[in-house]
Amino acid sequence: MPDGKPAGERCPHLTGDHRCALFGSPERPSVCGSLRPEPSMCGDGARAAFVTLRRLERATAPRRSPPRISPA
Ligand code: SF4
Repeated sequence: MPDGKPAGERCPHLTGDHRCALFGSPERPSVCGSLRPEPSMCGDGARAAFVTLRRLERATAPRRSPPRISPA
């Protein structure tokens, strides 16, 4: 994903059991390798982590402008 991952879209490298298919590989994005998980992000497990992730994606999603109406 050279232009980044859109909010709400699953990473194509995330396996079915929520593991990174690129872990340990030089192709893994550096931002992923530098991320340090912590309790405020992960909570007590995957369910809590996904709730936090969805909240962060909504909070940082680009705002949509209302449609422009052309003068008649
Ligand atoms: S660590 Fe990065 S590359 Fe791996 S699954 Fe997560 S977002 Fe994708």
